Amino acid sequence: MNSLSTLDVKYVKGIGPKKAELLASELGIRTAADLLRYYPNNYVDRSKCYTVSELNGEIPYVQIRGSFIAMNVVGEGAKMRLAASFTDGRRTMEVVWFRKIKQIRESIRLGQEYILFGKPTRYGSMWQMAHPEIDAPQSVGAREGFRGIYPLTEKLRSRGVISRNFFVWTQAVLESRTVADPIPQSVAQSIGLMPLDSALRQIHLPSSAELLEKARYRLKFDELFYIQLDIVRRGRLRHDNTEGYRFRRIADWFNNFYNRCLPFPLTDAQKRVVKEIRADVNTGRQMNRLVQGDVGSGKTIVALMAMLMAVDNGFQACLMAPTEILATQHYETLSAMTAEIGLNIELLTGSTRTAKRKDIHTGLRDGSLHILVGTHALIEDTVEFANLGLAVIDEQHRFGVAQRARLWRKNLLPPHILVMTATPIPRTLAMTVYGDLDVSVIDQLPPGRKPVTTLLRYDNQRQGTYKAVFNQLRMGRQAYIVYPLIDENEKLDLRSLQEGFETIRQTFPDYKVAMVHGRMKPDEKDYQMQLFASGEARILVATTVIEVGVNVPNASVMIIENAERFGLSQLHQLRGRVGRGADQSYCVLMTKYQIASETRKRLEVMTATTDGFVIAEADMKFRGPGDIEGTMQSGMPFDLHIASLATDGAILQQARLAAEKLLDSDPDLKMPQNSDMIRYMSTIVNRSADWSKIS
Ligand code: ADP
Ligand code: MG
Repeated sequence: MNSLSTLDVKYVKGIGPKKAELLASELGIRTAADLLRYYPNNYVDRSKCYTVSELNGEIPYVQIRGSFIAMNVVGEGAKMRLAASFTDGRRTMEVVWFRKIKQIRESIRLGQEYILFGKPTRYGSMWQMAHPEIDAPQSVGAREGFRGIYPLTEKLRSRGVISRNFFVWTQAVLESRTVADPIPQSVAQSIGLMPLDSALRQIHLPSSAELLEKARYRLKFDELFYIQLDIVRRGRLRHDNTEGYRFRRIADWFNNFYNRCLPFPLTDAQKRVVKEIRADVNTGRQMNRLVQGDVGSGKTIVALMAMLMAVDNGFQACLMAPTEILATQHYETLSAMTAEIGLNIELLTGSTRTAKRKDIHTGLRDGSLHILVGTHALIEDTVEFANLGLAVIDEQHRFGVAQRARLWRKNLLPPHILVMTATPIPRTLAMTVYGDLDVSVIDQLPPGRKPVTTLLRYDNQRQGTYKAVFNQLRMGRQAYIVYPLIDENEKLDLRSLQEGFETIRQTFPDYKVAMVHGRMKPDEKDYQMQLFASGEARILVATTVIEVGVNVPNASVMIIENAERFGLSQLHQLRGRVGRGADQSYCVLMTKYQIASETRKRLEVMTATTDGFVIAEADMKFRGPGDIEGTMQSGMPFDLHIASLATDGAILQQARLAAEKLLDSDPDLKMPQNSDMIRYMSTIVNRSADWSKIS
């Protein structure tokens, strides 16, 4: 592959400088190696011909055997096209060309048999095919089997590039050489990988479905393996090299809390995670740990115990939350839990008053303040810890890495980092995106929780739904009504929220209704939240600001309006607000009457399970990993062409193990048998500087 990565595609037979430019700008294909890595995304079976009556719009590309019976140029100027009738002997379809009209017209003979290959579309009652590939039957016979369909852009199409060009070009590259395999023999053999050269030949021109599958496996493995090698290596380097504060002892703060203030026995999962953290902060290296735990699994108390470890060793700790509501709630929970041991905790948010702010700054600098809870306000320049030993970050995906780094810019050593997420991330994604973090999982809910009963209801069943809410309210319980808020049109969304609020007030005239949304002033928001939290308001109409963390155990029912506009993970987060008490709770997903069957299937995942990991997996399958990776995409050393984090979990697992094994045997990847691979990686991995350093 190495020589191919220096061979400019313009020298590939049939490409030339003009098309090479187009390939570079449209697809990022610059070298012959790039070209070989541009894989078909679909295949057609060239041994199978369809008839016109078999077309149903579900087969993307088809071959049809038959002959042209008429051909005319119609329209003028830019609208001029060549239109022909093509018959398979029983039915006809229309074939059109917008370009090269003269040339095509001259090359086709009416009445002669051809095989057309293309994408059929329905046009009124007629099937139509535009710019099909045309073959004489005998020439097809020679290369029956699978034909790859290469994804094309509009621009490529308009410049006359067709799928078959890629086939011809890749064959030209492969014709004259054998592609060297950069993966070390030891890895290839232990997994039984198809050699790279065969895999590339098969992916572009499969000789059987079975070999194609093997080729796909091999090429997917490659991508995932190089990523894992990169991640595991970086993780090990960080782990070995980043010096951190050593929390040697567990002393009074922790012990007094544990013995006197613990409000409930910890679950086994919580105990295990506390132990993992304990071991991690006592090594002399910096901890970088992700705590994953479903909503309600009890992450807060785990965070508190970790912070007490810091305080016991003379350090300060902070807890950063993404919203003011959540920060306030954390502050109140932590203060209440530690009231008896007299821990000094403060809250810092955007709305903290100046005088209070000054106090906090003083307490931080002289070390008398043990724990600071807050929002983004914690990373302002004026905030200066005397000795920050641990930073806990709740709901990590809303804080960028750069933001986090600002927290400890004044530290001698980086503090230990504990990132807590209630968004369960599929294992495959966690292994990739957080591959260099250590992960703890709280995979157990506190005892006595009843799973929330979830129902899917349509607009026309609204009255029945309200009646059920009414019954809950009469039993003394509280209800959430949630509206989607979509950034692009805040005004409109706000209006639907207002209207919803009015409807709810009229529907439930005997109960006080509170309302919160993201554009409220913090004071007003707090006031409304307080109304609901105290039980004075029995209904809370809200946007997704309540998504994370909010804890009102008396709330037993939630209606989510326009549920189809939410992602599954988000629905799961929202639903986690109910079912926090001991009684049965309900979540009703409302949608308009007509939803696509795909949408219904998606929402039915919610009615079928309350397991956050199952939901996260499903979410990733429905949406693709892109959305979830989103902001973390930068963590990926290169884009995936063929592997998918959503569906190739098993291959990823194998790639991970292989990468670990290779690094065990050659930690710096300096052994000669690995040098081809390092050289190859430096051509594909963005962090090439990193890789060239170790080669
Ligand atoms: P999350 O993981 O979603 O942040 P919290 O820390 O807010 O969860 O905990 C959810 C609720 O469960 C809180 O009311 C908390 O007091 C309670 N809780 C946490 N751990 C336990 C436990 N071991 N036993 C009983 N209740 C618990
Ligand atoms: Mg929480």
